[in-house]
Amino acid sequence: MHTIILNELGEELDIEGYGDGNNLVNFTYIGKHFLCRGSVEFFAVSTTYNVLQCRQCSLRINVPKEVDTYGKLRKWCAYEIEYYIRNNKARLENMSVFARSM
Ligand SMILES: [Zn+2]
Repeated sequence: MHTIILNELGEELDIEGYGDGNNLVNFTYIGKHFLCRGSVEFFAVSTTYNVLQCRQCSLRINVPKEVDTYGKLRKWCAYEIEYYIRNNKARLENMSVFARSM
């Protein structure tokens, strides 16, 4: 079992049996959404973007066309998460302070 962390919430894609070099194939099942257990599908929505979408909870992540393997998806998600955290540091800290005060 392999896992790709998809976003800043820590949502995960379980990709049993697939290696990082394998292609993400258009209009196919690419793995399970961890915890919700929905099937995640991969398909084109424009000439420049594909989408990862969970059939169970409607998680939807827009991915540039160049991200066409599991390995590239892993790297791209890590970059996006790092970018999000760097640009939302103050907001994330405020949310954390608020949650602790509840
Ligand atoms: Zn889901």
